Amino acid sequence: MKIIYSLFLFLSINLFSQEIYDLEYYFGEDYKNFNENIPKPSDFLLNGKEVGSSHVSHDRLIQYMYALANASKRIDIENRGFSYEGRPLVLLTITSEKNHDKLLKFKRSHIDYLDGKSDNKSSNFYSRPVVIYQGYSIHGNEPSGSNAAMLYAYYLASSNSDDVKNQLNNSIILLDPSLNPDGLQRFANWVNTNKSQNLNSDSNDREFNEHWPRGRTNHYWFDMNRDWLPAQLPESKVRIKTFQDWYPNVLTDHHEMGTNSTFFYQPGIPSRVNPLTPKKNQELTAKIGKYHESILSENGSFFYSEEDYDDFYYGKGSTYPDINGGIGILFEQGSSRGHLQESINGNISFPFTIKNQLLTSISTLEASVDLKKELFDYQREFFNSKKHNKNEFLIVGDQHDRSKLYHFHEILKTHNITTKKLDEDKIVNGIKFKKNNSFLIPKDQRNSRLLSAMINNQTSFKDSLFYDVSAWSFLHSFNLEHTFIKSNEKFNEFNFSKPVGSIISKSDYAYVFHWNDYYSPKALYKLLSHGLNIKVSTDKFTIENNNFGYGSILVPVSNQNKSINEINNIIEEISNETGVDFYGFNTSKTNGIDLGSNDFKKINLPKIGLIVGDGVSSYDAGEIWHLMDTRYEIPITKLKYNSLAKIDLSKYNTLIFVNGSYGNKNTIEKLKNWVKNGGNLIGFRNATKWLDSNDFIKLDFIENTSVPKDVKFIDKNKFYGAQLTSGAIFNVKLDLSHPVNYGYYKEDLSIFRNTNIYLKNDKLSFNNPIKYSKENSLVSGYISKLNYKSILNSRPFVSSRLNKGRVNVFTDNTNFRAFWYGTNKLMINTIFFGKLM
Ligand SMILES: [Zn+2]
Repeated sequence: MKIIYSLFLFLSINLFSQEIYDLEYYFGEDYKNFNENIPKPSDFLLNGKEVGSSHVSHDRLIQYMYALANASKRIDIENRGFSYEGRPLVLLTITSEKNHDKLLKFKRSHIDYLDGKSDNKSSNFYSRPVVIYQGYSIHGNEPSGSNAAMLYAYYLASSNSDDVKNQLNNSIILLDPSLNPDGLQRFANWVNTNKSQNLNSDSNDREFNEHWPRGRTNHYWFDMNRDWLPAQLPESKVRIKTFQDWYPNVLTDHHEMGTNSTFFYQPGIPSRVNPLTPKKNQELTAKIGKYHESILSENGSFFYSEEDYDDFYYGKGSTYPDINGGIGILFEQGSSRGHLQESINGNISFPFTIKNQLLTSISTLEASVDLKKELFDYQREFFNSKKHNKNEFLIVGDQHDRSKLYHFHEILKTHNITTKKLDEDKIVNGIKFKKNNSFLIPKDQRNSRLLSAMINNQTSFKDSLFYDVSAWSFLHSFNLEHTFIKSNEKFNEFNFSKPVGSIISKSDYAYVFHWNDYYSPKALYKLLSHGLNIKVSTDKFTIENNNFGYGSILVPVSNQNKSINEINNIIEEISNETGVDFYGFNTSKTNGIDLGSNDFKKINLPKIGLIVGDGVSSYDAGEIWHLMDTRYEIPITKLKYNSLAKIDLSKYNTLIFVNGSYGNKNTIEKLKNWVKNGGNLIGFRNATKWLDSNDFIKLDFIENTSVPKDVKFIDKNKFYGAQLTSGAIFNVKLDLSHPVNYGYYKEDLSIFRNTNIYLKNDKLSFNNPIKYSKENSLVSGYISKLNYKSILNSRPFVSSRLNKGRVNVFTDNTNFRAFWYGTNKLMINTIFFGKLM
């Protein structure tokens, strides 16, 4: 037995010729004093070896965390929900055993202190535990965080040192071991299946080069670390709830960056901090940074700070806390991606990356406990320094779209922002607010600063470089009517339940519904998929005192392949489910086009293909997949560009090409024939250039190049960076009679763009149904002067015929990150009504 064992050991050292990564590697001698009754991570890893020898799958990670919570009285575990793929979204609450009995009390007093209900003179103010939220690997293919989370939780459960005991007495740690379970699982599977027994560090190896769409994103290919503010994804919703339940003093977000980089911790670039963030926030971030500095230096790890990343967009994990009275900290570890990879700093091993994440988890805890008093004072000041007038309110509404308004309200609720009920219709500053389609948001409330950050418009900046978008106002992404109001009235709390539609008046002749509601496309698709003959109005009409706008949908009850009863049942079900109201009429006669008019056009059932795969922006494609699947419930087939040559395109009447690079001459000819035979092709962002250069459509681009004058070599990147339009909001004017704009009732619309592609306006005015405003087009965000000049003469949408088919292009992103509800209808209109354009 002994011989076999030593032989095995001999072989393993020679075969794998790698360092031994055991608990001593991670914890030094300390691990010898750990509580032996606590299970080790290695007991739960597939190969029985220590963390870092393989990539933990989410399943195993969860198994281990439950086992830890079982074995340790310091740890509670709860499941807060499920990812899209059904993985649990767990949270560990870690503190000393005696604190666990008082958790609810601590939570309550923590909130009372925020609200100024108890004063800071009482001894309890400083003696309570500091609250720390530590989250890992929100990008699934940045796995050192989640792997380190196992070691960190193990350390907190098992260490007997006086320091750790003191830290546990003085802190409540909310440990979120995997912020993106589906991404982590996808990546772990990739990297473990491509690992060689003899670790191969050649960066060309398949191990380091993931398949599209890679593990960074969640199930629908969203960047989860942009969703802290929009909160549209289940993973984000639960963590914002945890955040808003606790108001952590410190929140950390563990990431990875390029393999040739070392380690980064915040503060980020000072000139790029959002001006709404207090100065003291960055000072405290730097103070905490001292602890990372010393622990990394002691362990021989190189690092940098203040030279990269920023705290501007509040939808990131390291920035969201900054507008909520806490300190958000970003960590970025140079990635080994796989198990061992060559880099300019020598071979970088997975365990090394894990160790740095573990060390900075520990230094965060040390710093937070040491700086507890300052963190409490800062938080108290944050919530109590700005006093608002109790009579000031933001009033919001949409006259025709209750569903969209409901979703906006949902976001406010997620962020703990309170709302009030409007008891009667009001006209404020010339804007009409209907009591059932509006509500009030008091400015005087705990999260008033967060509210400001969600609706703020900014058009001048200290720095013209942005790590992410420069604008995100929710009032504009939802295209809501809004203004401020002062009132002494006492308004009641507002509760918004999901709108349910109804049959307003029953008919066995015909139904009509408005196209304004957010879910009207869902209703239309369901009707079409029942095989019903449906038409759309290309003009306005009034019937029995009901005004119907362009794009209203007509459902004849007679002359269908179903009985009157069946149709009424279908409509009742659909209206309940979608929130859309159906109006029944017993005559074709209207004031305007009659229901039997030729100006009602037949609509076909869309059969949609979405082009995905190598070269395609997975974000842009994922946004459409998510929109159609989870909201409209319209099936789309995800087609790989490379397989288009082999498949029968006649199965589809609509194909969508998002931002991407597409090639292959034979496929292009096949696609063009498909359009010529009646296909409806929709292109976004840089797909417009590809469609133009391959003669699908003839476009006139405004080219502008900025030539550097007096720009020094060192400022080269800054110069080019300042020409980017990384995400800003613009005002456009709509021709409401054009099918692309059906369902809109105002000529003004806010639109989001993150490209520098500018399409010249056509000489024929009706070919410019959407135009950037000639003046004050910029609503919020950064655009360079030169680009701004181009935008004033351009249009974001062109529709053009190609034989029997149609090509529709958008330069802007109408589906951005699932929170641009206000422009979702533009794309859906090109799908349903493309033929009418
Ligand atoms: Zn990341």
